[in-house]
Amino acid sequence: MARVLIFLLICAARVLAVEYLWPLPDSRTLTGGHADSRMDHFHGGVDLRARTPLRVIAPTDGWIERIGINPPGYGRTLYFRMSDGNTATFGHLSRYEPALQETVRDSQLVIGTYRVDFTFDSTDAPRYKAGETICFTGSSGRGPAHLHFEVRTGAVQHDPLAFYKPKDFDKPVIVGVRWIKLSDYIPTAIGNDLVLSASPRVKSLEPIAFMVRTFDPGPWGRNAVPFAVRVYENERLIFEDQCSEIDLLGPSNIYEKLVYPEFKNNDRDVRRLFEWPDRNLAVDDDLPLGWIEDFVGVVRIEVEDRNGNSESVRIPVEAGLPKSACAKRCRANLNGYALTGDEVSLKLG
Ligand SMILES: [Zn+2]
Repeated sequence: MARVLIFLLICAARVLAVEYLWPLPDSRTLTGGHADSRMDHFHGGVDLRARTPLRVIAPTDGWIERIGINPPGYGRTLYFRMSDGNTATFGHLSRYEPALQETVRDSQLVIGTYRVDFTFDSTDAPRYKAGETICFTGSSGRGPAHLHFEVRTGAVQHDPLAFYKPKDFDKPVIVGVRWIKLSDYIPTAIGNDLVLSASPRVKSLEPIAFMVRTFDPGPWGRNAVPFAVRVYENERLIFEDQCSEIDLLGPSNIYEKLVYPEFKNNDRDVRRLFEWPDRNLAVDDDLPLGWIEDFVGVVRIEVEDRNGNSESVRIPVEAGLPKSACAKRCRANLNGYALTGDEVSLKLG
């Protein structure tokens, strides 16, 4: 127990002590996570998208601890001893920075094989300052082009992302907003995407709801589902839906939950949907939250991520005026009321 506790304390200290520079300035896209289950092992690091050779920089001041070139595994690999004593491991490289590349070539010639594995002594190892280029990504070893990135303390492999405070200043993106219209309390029509840049107005005799397509770029380019979608009528909150984190590689039932059938074949950002509002309306039931009726004013749709960044669209709306009000006004203006955008018929439910 004591040993476990000490180990955990060491881990905590390692994780909190030093902040590393992100080693791949030109990519933050994860293609594989730490501890993913692979065919015959757990994945010891993270994989980062790097389809073309990208420079890898030293995360801290430090020195080259080991160079390994092993065709079937990590390919060209670099082990970099960082200032806190941890080792950053980079696999599947195309080459090392020029001076180091020359050293590697020399030892390959001396040993007489492409495959080499040698360690440096801390006293005569090549040293680098934080931010200096140490190597370039590639496709050596197993798998397509990407960077395999590990952080080790001895033989313990940590989740590299635990060493980075995600700095997320990116707002969620509202890809599109559509309205849904009721007729006799049954959703009957869905509009095309409103042209948000053209200050759309929506008018309807019937109650309407809005459907939001949105995603959160997030600090790692993972295009996650935003934390919350809210709808306000003249700044009065009438609807909120919160969504827990969903991995892009998550189970397909989550995908189903978030997708309207007509979007299934679209690009992946469109997958990131909130299924809202409730499509299973019963005749004569009260409208569920989020439907807009008896309302003239501005509807604001807000999307917020987990770090408090938010994006909004404001849409002037006239919708579902009460029959009494409608008796005079709607009859007089019946032809003046129309849903903006082209209507397309949609089978709902
Ligand atoms: Zn990997």
